[in-house]
This record gives sequence, structure tokens and C-alpha cells, in this order.
Amino acid sequence: MTSTALRSELAVRGVALDAPVRRRGGAGPSDDGHVLLDGVGTALPIVATSRYRVSEGRLLLDGADLGLDVEPVRRPAFYDLRTADGIPYHQIARLHGADVLATTVVQTCVRYAPEQRCRFCAIEESLRSGATTAVKTPAQLAEVAEAAVRLDGVRQLVLTTGTSAGRDRGARHLARCVRAVVEAVPDLAIQVQCEPPEELAVLGDLRDAGAVSIGIHVESLDEQVRRRWMPGKGSVPLSEYRAAWREAVRVFGRNQVSTYLIVGLGEDPDELVAGAAELVELGVYPFVVPLRPIAGTLAVDVDGAVTPPAAVVADVTSRVAALLRAADMTGADQRAGCAACGACSALRSAGA
Ligand code: SF4
Repeated sequence: MTSTALRSELAVRGVALDAPVRRRGGAGPSDDGHVLLDGVGTALPIVATSRYRVSEGRLLLDGADLGLDVEPVRRPAFYDLRTADGIPYHQIARLHGADVLATTVVQTCVRYAPEQRCRFCAIEESLRSGATTAVKTPAQLAEVAEAAVRLDGVRQLVLTTGTSAGRDRGARHLARCVRAVVEAVPDLAIQVQCEPPEELAVLGDLRDAGAVSIGIHVESLDEQVRRRWMPGKGSVPLSEYRAAWREAVRVFGRNQVSTYLIVGLGEDPDELVAGAAELVELGVYPFVVPLRPIAGTLAVDVDGAVTPPAAVVADVTSRVAALLRAADMTGADQRAGCAACGACSALRSAGA
């Protein structure tokens, strides 16, 4: 198992390699290559100038072999297929890690005006670049999911969405998509991700549709950080997040609900860990990831943001992992989703 310190270093500094499975831009905070690191699905930033390099399947630091195998995840066979109306499957959903299918069902966000958008997010950039389509229909997702399971052994599906203007904040379309996929591939475990819906009953609709876990992502519990980094989303009171998490835990179960916490947004590490403790207490898994500023985001294009120090990432990750272990909440116990996948966080290397 990779140590938390090394995993944090890699998350922050990235590696130089040519990974065939890679996503650029998209929702959320990363732009990574997908590899098996010591046999474990891992998303690593590709940084051509990194001191960490993959050569002949081994991880090197300044040319010295660190004793770990790195195998790029192979390009999945379903990427070569197209829908009847000619859309390549890879524009509808992408392979994450080794066995997770993931997509953003609505690739636009009501909060994407420059003064509103999350400064680390590039959700509409992959749409502009032509890498994906604006709205994935339930039928398209069912078709692609069936092929990904059959041809590539995919075991989980992660469905996220840009936020809509409706009171459901996009959850109703997610529920329609889940229903269609479950009908086509009943054994595929599905996680949905959305903002806290104003009508909490829609969380029950998502569960009834067949989703087994949910991510309701706050990114930070620090109000100043929220206002600065997420002016639009940060206007949703934390009380709405807490109400949605509680209801989601009631509906989906303890440790089937998760949220991202991003290290490197300027939050005091002790406060971040204290916030994680509150989440664990609620039964919500805090999925700790470092900020990865990517091109096309305001964080890079305007702010010149940089990644946090690896030592801070390792410290916060270790402390949050200890909280999770003490509460008997591990990512492996989640049935689907980012915590179950674990590729974007160092938490798994810390035993959570
Ligand atoms: S942790 Fe989430 S975003 Fe990262 S590779 Fe896994 S499913 Fe994708």
C-alpha cells in the first residue's frame, strides 16, 4: 500500500506519464490520468515537469525506483462505440479509475456566470471543447452503461449534474437517468451527486429510482472560504446542507452519503478536521481531496492558485482517516461513488 505521505505528494506534484485514460476539465476540481498504482485504481495529475515519472511500469523519483508498479488503465472497449444517432459513447460517459463509469448528466450549471461559479470548476469547458454533450438522456446512459459493464467490467456508475434552476437542483433528471440504467443493468451500483435540493423528498425519489449512495458536496464548511471560492453555491446556507445530509443518511443509510472537502482553499487545517468530525458524526463520509487548479478555471486563469503543500494534505488526510476508522466508516463500505472508488483521494492509503 502506498504511504499517505507519498500518495499526497503524488496528488500535489503529479507524475509525468502518458496515460490513455484521462479526463480534461469537467465538473469538480481535477484533471487526472487514471492508473493502477501498486494495483489500486488511482487518479494522478499528469504534470510533464514532475520529479515523479513513470518509466517501464515503475514509479521513479528523480530517476530512482520507488518500488511501486504503475500500470495505466487501458482504454476501454466501449469508447469505440457510438449511439444510433452517431454520438461516441465516450462523449456520454467516461471511465474513471479502473472500473467506474462516470458522467455529468447536465453539463451546464445555473451558477456558471463568472461572478457566481465555483472558482475550481470547469464544468462547461468540456462542453465548449466538444468533448461531451450538454444533456445525457436516460436512454443514452442506459445504452452506454450496459456496454461498459458487458465489455469492460465496470462495477459502479457515478452520475453528477450541473445545478438547474429548479427546486430539485437537477435531482429529478438524475432520478430519471438512474431508473433507466437500473432497468438496463440492475446490478450496477449507482451513486448520484447534486446540491441539496430545496424539496428534500426528491432524495427519496433518487433512492426509489435505484441509486445506492449519494454525494452532496459542500467542498468547505468555512463561510469565508465558501463566499470566496463558491460565490453562487456558497449562498446556499450550510443549514440546507445539514438538513439534506441528515435526510440523505436517513434514506440511503449511514456511510452511504459523502461530501467533498477540498484542502487548499485557505481553510485552517484544524477547522477542516473539526468540520470532518461533525460530518462523520452525521454519518457522512468527508472525501478529502487536495485542490488541483486546472486550466479553464477561474482559480488558474484569474487567481493563479496553486496546489497546497503535500505535508498539509497528508496531515489533514491522516487525521480525517483516523476519525473515519474510529467511526467504522470506510470508503470500501460505500456501495458506489467517489469514496467507494477512492482514486482521487489519499484517504484509502490512510486506511479509510
Ligand atoms: S474518486 Fe470520483 S471523480 Fe475520482 S476517479 Fe473515482 S469516481 Fe471519478
